[in-house]
Amino acid sequence: MAGRVHVIGAGMAGLAAATSLASRGTRVVLYEAAKWAGGRCRSYEDASLGCRIDNGNHLLLSGNHATMAYLARIGAADSLTGPNRPVFPFIDLVSGAAWTLRLNRGRLPWWVLRKSWRVPNTKARDYLALRRLDRARADDTVAALLGDLDPLYDNLLEPLAIAALNTKPRIAAAAPLAAVIAESLRRGGRASMPRFPKIGLSESFVDPALAYLRERGTELRFGTRIAGMTVSDAHVTGLVGPNMDEIIAPDERVVLATPPWVAADLLAGLTVPDAFEAILNLHFRAGIDAGEAGFYGLLGGAAEWVFEKTEVVSVTISAANDRIDTDSDALALEVWSDLRRAFGLPRTVPPYRVVKEKRATFAATPEQLARRPDAATRFKNLVLAGDYTATGLPATIEGAVRSGETAATFA
Ligand SMILES: Cc1cc2nc3c(=O)[nH]c(=O)nc-3n(C[C@H](O)[C@H](O)[C@H](O)COP(=O)(O)OP(=O)(O)OC[C@H]3O[C@@H](n4cnc5c(N)ncnc54)[C@H](O)[C@@H]3O)c2cc1C
Repeated sequence: MAGRVHVIGAGMAGLAAATSLASRGTRVVLYEAAKWAGGRCRSYEDASLGCRIDNGNHLLLSGNHATMAYLARIGAADSLTGPNRPVFPFIDLVSGAAWTLRLNRGRLPWWVLRKSWRVPNTKARDYLALRRLDRARADDTVAALLGDLDPLYDNLLEPLAIAALNTKPRIAAAAPLAAVIAESLRRGGRASMPRFPKIGLSESFVDPALAYLRERGTELRFGTRIAGMTVSDAHVTGLVGPNMDEIIAPDERVVLATPPWVAADLLAGLTVPDAFEAILNLHFRAGIDAGEAGFYGLLGGAAEWVFEKTEVVSVTISAANDRIDTDSDALALEVWSDLRRAFGLPRTVPPYRVVKEKRATFAATPEQLARRPDAATRFKNLVLAGDYTATGLPATIEGAVRSGETAATFA
């Protein structure tokens, strides 16, 4: 029997790698610095709001096939929800107009021929221009490639690009957006159904994975920060932590599934993305009716997306480096006044929590993409996983899961 695999980091990449390995009967040891798993994708109890919240809204698409396979593996395929048709509703906060992008399910995009299914004031031929993405070069930005397609750009492409890349389209690379669109919109509505957790991120992505691992005898070591690795010429020979020293036997392997800055600290000479973008989420103890989709895209306000959750209304501001230092109370007031306009809510701001994820994802600029490392390393028994590795996708759950699956096949 092959030796154990040591997985460092229990975010989505580490959990995907660990569950994939465990499904094949491999013995896994999972090390996690925090006392909980999930990394940048988790839920927790917020004492002041008196309910559970997610660290941030996470939107997936039905075409995220690696994530869907991961959920099926851990028995959580039914834990996502979303509209039963491929729809993306928007509210324009400036004009007050509300409209819904509606796709047909099949591959042939006849929906572009229906005026009422398109973005208002766009023509069918505007959508044909999306083919430009097929020719996206490594240094093309989203704005340079698509920015002339007004009003399609302002009302759909820009918000989609910000959501997918967490980077302002003026500087964001077009190539990873092309990859997302190729796997969703271009495959038709069936691959473009918006999906998000019925209850919370941990209930969908984390807790069932931990249960799956426990059932298969995985050793879960929480509160265990790996601070260094001992190496020989071609192999990792040991893991070192503040209170631990683990020898890696010659037949054992290591999956390093930490964020990029930790990987670079542990592995001298590794080039990784080193510029990041923040995401802010505001959770209000209030309710809205978010219609058939359960969420709305917001145009012309501070935030881009609003989700109706069981106990809170959750709002996302992506690519938010320029808002990270804004006072939380001022931010809440600003966003609440947008929500009031859109949903006719009372003037008084309800209890809220602002969650600021400073390094939510790496900045998806052409320069940063060039810094993404491959999974393989110079050490024969060490492989990298994480949303920052060279998956071709932006830093998303799908990218992280795919990187974990790739690492598991190497390990
Ligand atoms: C607010 C927010 C909103 C987002 N929205 C979306 C969205 O809508 N759709 C989408 O698909 N994606 C979204 N993302 C991105 C998605 O969450 C990430 O791409 C994904 O969770 C990254 O997973 P990862 O495993 O690569 O990294 P991480 O989640 O960072 O996991 C790394 C793990 O390693 C652990 N670790 C670190 N150092 C050590 C060490 N020395 N020893 C042991 N363990 C260590 C960390 O504690 C962590 O648990 C969002 C992210 C944020 C923050």
